[in-house]
Amino acid sequence: RQLEAQIKGDIPDTTFEDVAGQDNAKQEVQELIEFLRNPEQFRSLGAEVPHGILLMGPPGTGKTLMAKALAGEAGVRFYPISASEFIEVFVGVGASRVRQLFETARKNTPSIIFIDELDSIGRTRGTGLGGGHDEREQTLNQILAEMDGFAGHEAVIVLAATNRPDVLDPALLRPGRFDRHVTLDLPDLKGRVAILTVHTRHVPLDPTVDLSKIAAGTPGFSGADLKNLVNEAAMAGARTQSTAVTMANFDEARDKIILGTARSLVISA
Ligand code: ATP
Repeated sequence: RQLEAQIKGDIPDTTFEDVAGQDNAKQEVQELIEFLRNPEQFRSLGAEVPHGILLMGPPGTGKTLMAKALAGEAGVRFYPISASEFIEVFVGVGASRVRQLFETARKNTPSIIFIDELDSIGRTRGTGLGGGHDEREQTLNQILAEMDGFAGHEAVIVLAATNRPDVLDPALLRPGRFDRHVTLDLPDLKGRVAILTVHTRHVPLDPTVDLSKIAAGTPGFSGADLKNLVNEAAMAGARTQSTAVTMANFDEARDKIILGTARSLVISA
């Protein structure tokens, strides 16, 4: 079923309103949206837009969300794939799967291909322990070949996400490939308030709840952590059969998440 969705390429209903903060990143991809909305205009003026954009940033900062919102804003088909799937699911057929994905996206322009966890496949070639990474290398080479095959005016944008840009094969970053980089950082105080506001849109909040205070007490939390925090607080409220989520629920949820993180750090140490 997931494969079907990938092949069909839905137009996401996610928009920039769902992505809180990250104003710089939004601004940097604005011209791509203009291009995807009206590729003919760019083509007639001979303007070439970059085809490969690398979204970089720590886990949970909204890279996938941003890619989806970009497709939603532009109103174009979205073809997502997780690079680790090439290795785990498409064993032996990674390269042909890449070919197929690009072919479908090219037939359905304007479109966006989104490769999540690019680093799992795009690590520097030829350094794998014990060698034998042919499958991965072939898949990576196919991605490079597909990107080199783009004509300047083709209305397909390839977005890739990574939280380890440092380990990527330099070949991926050459001009014409993933040569444009957009960074998504952990949110600052203002960003955390904005993210909490988005995720409490449909949550009944008790008047005791002060989102600024919650944001002030959650430094280092990513967007994904804050989403989790809201959900944990709502669950805590639901357990006590309240009609609204209280500040005490948020405090309890925060302590649970921070303790959980501390515990997993101890275990992995
Ligand atoms: P990973 O590197 O772990 O794949 P990611 O950077 O792709 O993470 P997402 O999967 O996009 O992060 O984020 C997970 C969820 O966290 C999103 O679906 C969204 O609900 C929430 N989230 C993250 N960042 C934001 C944000 N800036 N605004 C609103 N929600 C956010």
